[in-house]
Amino acid sequence: MPVENEFAAESVAMPWDRLSLDDRFRFRCGRDLDCFTQCCRDVTIVLTPYDILRLKHSLKIGSEEFLEKYTLSPHFSNQTFPIVILKMNEETKQCPFVCAKGCAVYSDRPWSCRMYPLGSAEPKNPSPEHKAFHFVVLEELCHGHSEGPDWSVRDWISNQGVEEFEVMGASFKYLTLHDYWDKGPELTPAQAEMFYMACYDLDRFRRFVFETRFLELLDVDEARIEAIRAHDEEVLEFAIEWLRFALFREPTMKVRRDTVVEAKA
Ligand code: SF4
Ligand code: SF4
Repeated sequence: MPVENEFAAESVAMPWDRLSLDDRFRFRCGRDLDCFTQCCRDVTIVLTPYDILRLKHSLKIGSEEFLEKYTLSPHFSNQTFPIVILKMNEETKQCPFVCAKGCAVYSDRPWSCRMYPLGSAEPKNPSPEHKAFHFVVLEELCHGHSEGPDWSVRDWISNQGVEEFEVMGASFKYLTLHDYWDKGPELTPAQAEMFYMACYDLDRFRRFVFETRFLELLDVDEARIEAIRAHDEEVLEFAIEWLRFALFREPTMKVRRDTVVEAKA
């Protein structure tokens, strides 16, 4: 289950062994263990946009309600863009989704909950000498390490359904590892709000697209517009393209010809 366990590979001195996809570790998790659900309390779980999309679908609520009820958006020193974390119960410190049987949103649980007890570290600019790697997070509270099957990292990732989260998370990873955060100016409050809405509050971003002059100003083909109307996954991809265009000045969007003429007139 969970910990915040993805790091920029350059920035952290790792206390654990670096594992490749074919390296192996022993682990078993189950209701019969005396630590069952102990890992689902007092933990910082940073949510990705796709985590939020899956959780709101699981709970059948909108993104605004999800963010309001279940998350916090803290600001840490040196933080460059908004982040969202799961809000633990103030008294018990438990995750809002833990119950007697385990995780009430198990099939839609976040990426970090799927990965646990593995963590991963990703270099900004991978090379043969500096590759992404995984590591086993060893915590006293977790008693699953002394028994169970021998997993390869690759098999664990597959068994836990992580691949889909990695495919859907690739564009957000691109966004967050971008050089802009080292070299560009700090986000203004309005840009930070746009980032938060586009990445995390997808229903509000969809309204921004359809209920403002957005589609009058930008050239988006009809099939894409219908896909955005119908599918949150499409909204998310589109939202990240929009942020790349608006923040990084990348050519991921086309301004309509008549908008250019209007601007010059
Ligand atoms: S989302 Fe599920 S697995 Fe993750 S901390 Fe909460 S209860 Fe545990
Ligand atoms: S074995 Fe580890 S991951 Fe499983 S319930 Fe116990 S503490 Fe959580």
